[in-house]
Amino acid sequence: MSLQERDKKHLWHPLTQHKLHPETTAITKAKGCILYDDYGNEYIDAIASWYTCMYGHCNAYITSQVSAQMKQLDQVVFSGFTHEPAIKLSESLIKILPKNQNKIFFSDNGSTSVEIGIKMALQYHFNNGEKRNTLIAFEDGFHGDTFGAMSVSGLSVYNGPFEEFFLEVKRIPVPNSKNLDAILNALKDIVSTSKVAGFVYEPLVQGAAAMKMHDAQDLNAVLMFCKEHQIITVADEVMTGFGKTGKHFASLYMDTQPDIICLSKALTGGLLPMALTTCSQKIYDAFYSDDISKGLFHGHTYSANPLACTAALASIELLQSENIQNSIQEIISSHQKFGNYIKKHPKVKSIRQTGIIFALDLNIEMERYGNLRDKLFKFFMDNGVFLRPLGNTIYIQAPYVITKKQLEKVYSVIEDALEIV
Ligand SMILES: *Cc1c(COP(=O)(O)O)cnc(C)c1O
Repeated sequence: MSLQERDKKHLWHPLTQHKLHPETTAITKAKGCILYDDYGNEYIDAIASWYTCMYGHCNAYITSQVSAQMKQLDQVVFSGFTHEPAIKLSESLIKILPKNQNKIFFSDNGSTSVEIGIKMALQYHFNNGEKRNTLIAFEDGFHGDTFGAMSVSGLSVYNGPFEEFFLEVKRIPVPNSKNLDAILNALKDIVSTSKVAGFVYEPLVQGAAAMKMHDAQDLNAVLMFCKEHQIITVADEVMTGFGKTGKHFASLYMDTQPDIICLSKALTGGLLPMALTTCSQKIYDAFYSDDISKGLFHGHTYSANPLACTAALASIELLQSENIQNSIQEIISSHQKFGNYIKKHPKVKSIRQTGIIFALDLNIEMERYGNLRDKLFKFFMDNGVFLRPLGNTIYIQAPYVITKKQLEKVYSVIEDALEIV
């Protein structure tokens, strides 16, 4: 029996309507930017497996560091115990995070890191003797699939069954360089009628909203408003973190720094699941008390797993290396050239780019998971490139180690794809 047939017996895949999309591709190995299937076909992983494997699949440095750690300490409870991989990771992260960040809380996936950010924001006010029950979020944001994260996500097309159970959230439009006054007025209305605890946002690039991008100055104005009103700002950098925007973190493009930052995805270079919620001393201090109930009573079995910490530590070393920093710059200028060329194509409505994140919108209306989108996806795969269009948006978020030749192939397959739509 083929892997595909065996898969169908017991497996239930994420974000999949199995009746409409019964087929899977079995991936048997991956190296660098290439995925290999069970028929020996090769695919360039142009979205770095959901933006995780930025240093290439099975990166030799990361895997060797983790295999050495594996022989030393595999897993241990992180309440009451500590270990060097977590300590070293905290030291190396604090050096690169925005300056106001000083404490690091571990979990194991992006949604949960947001969940923790929300709990920190709510309990911060609670511990200070003030009940604030409302959160602010952008329209079209995406923050994950657990309840708190779903609540702040504006992309709620598939949240129908759950909406009545959500947290109290008020939405503001995403800055588009013309609507800052309208946003600030909306914020004034919200704070005059609601007790706002926090603002959760994806800085500069909204991933699941099809790589929608906004301006750093406008976002900075929103963050300043939040600071003035003691609204805790929670930057969801699960996607934008670790070099994607050209800087180590998107938040570094703003003068006003968030109180809390959520990280995952590229954190471990895709080797192991891990997430972090980092915060400023001010947040931590609100929980530091003789009163036990003021603590953050949240924890996960695999918090600060030593192997995941080691993978993260190795990834951050790579991120800071001259090699990777040069590759990031090369990808940025290569995308710029491609963008300038492809934007003249009659089937292209617009292009946008932040750092190594490149997106183009097609001149046609398409459903997010509709037939034309499926046709495009199949075309890319048939031509050896793994890209997942979102509605009428085709985007690239390739590993930093992608070669010139591989990148050229991604571009040319995208250009060819314009002929079939
Ligand atoms: C992927 C993503 C999440 C959710 O992370 P998971 O690990 O899939 O739970 C949250 N926020 C952003 C911005 C993301 O891109």
